[in-house]
Amino acid sequence: MTDEQKCLEWLKHRRDNMPMAGAKRMFGIAIAALEKQEKKPAKAKFNKLYNKFVYFCPVCGEVTGHYDYCSDCGQAIDYDNPEPYTEGES
Ligand SMILES: [Zn+2]
Repeated sequence: MTDEQKCLEWLKHRRDNMPMAGAKRMFGIAIAALEKQEKKPAKAKFNKLYNKFVYFCPVCGEVTGHYDYCSDCGQAIDYDNPEPYTEGES
C-alpha cells in the first residue's frame, strides 16, 4: 500500500466518523483530489479514418490526447494497459 493509499484510508475513515456536515464535505474534497492522482487505465477506441487508437478519460469520457492527466477533469491516466472503449460511453 502506497503512502497515498494509506492517506486515503485515513481520510475516508475520518470522513465517515465526522459528525459535522461541513467538515465531512471538506474530507470528501480532499479524498476526491487524492483519488484523481491514482492512475486509471485509458479507454481506447480504434479510429479507422486516422488508422490509430484514440484514448478517452475513464472518468469523464473526454478525449485525452495521450497526456498524463485528463485536461478536463484532472484524472491521472495510464496508457500501458488501456481498456476497450465500448459504445454508449460518453
Ligand atoms: Zn477526465
